[in-house]
Amino acid sequence: MQLWVTEYQTPSMGLSVKTTDMLLLEKSEFQQVAVVQTIQFGKMLLLDGIIQTTETDEFVYHEMITQIALNAHPDPKKVLIIGGGDGGALREVVGHPAVEEGTMVEIDGLVVDASKKFFPHHSEGFDNPKARLIIDDGIQYVKDKQKAFDIMIVDSTDPIGPAVELFSENFYSDAANSLNDDGMLVVQSESPFFNADIIKNVYKKISASFPIVKLYLANVPTYPGGLWSFTVGSKKYDPAEINNPRPKFEPFKYYSEEMHKSSFVLPPFVKNIIS
Ligand code: SAM
Repeated sequence: MQLWVTEYQTPSMGLSVKTTDMLLLEKSEFQQVAVVQTIQFGKMLLLDGIIQTTETDEFVYHEMITQIALNAHPDPKKVLIIGGGDGGALREVVGHPAVEEGTMVEIDGLVVDASKKFFPHHSEGFDNPKARLIIDDGIQYVKDKQKAFDIMIVDSTDPIGPAVELFSENFYSDAANSLNDDGMLVVQSESPFFNADIIKNVYKKISASFPIVKLYLANVPTYPGGLWSFTVGSKKYDPAEINNPRPKFEPFKYYSEEMHKSSFVLPPFVKNIIS
């Protein structure tokens, strides 16, 4: 028997993967959490039918959502991750030598449990003594924080359900207040091919709270369009430059000194989205 899972990435386009096993299908208070065994990508996590991460291409997204700011900031001691329930971003954060504490605020404990059970490499950072896990709404969590973090990473689901507010101007303003005077905010900002409107809005809204805003790109095969965008808001340092005196480049599979710089080189159609 052939079992195929399809994510409808747009109303008229889908990505289908052949699976051999359904390992988890459970509904939390927030979303349907599924883990399937695929032939092409190893295990795959889906939330409400939307692909979040897979064992074989996760390195691109998790290295790129974390290492750019970790190496652009000269001294990232305290890092906050909002969302990121699979733990991949946390693993990268606590693995950086400059980081003293990596706090992750994820709304849905079931995603964390699923990752600990089925994604051992993603979730290995949870056991690191620098890691702190809080199960709560990230929007509420940042509201009363003042200059508490050097970097904030928003590893969220798409702007639907509990993640809608994570794409709002109010949230970016709270994020700016919770960061130190040389802090940086990094958000996953969706697909340049299919979500130009989201990218435009995120860029504009982050610009209202941060003097420096830049967009960078990475290739993630299982995300819509295969090309993914990240937006950085920075209070002081240029995120395209490596400013950390102890930058970490090895061992990575996607991130490198060259990739850091080249990821900010944008094709004209992406430049047009944010101009
Ligand atoms: N890399 C993924 C992607 O772009 O497809 C996102 C990964 S991660 C699994 C996204 C997480 O954000 C989910 O586990 C979801 O529960 C969490 N999330 C959504 N809204 C949130 C909120 N308001 N506060 C904290 N976590 C939230």
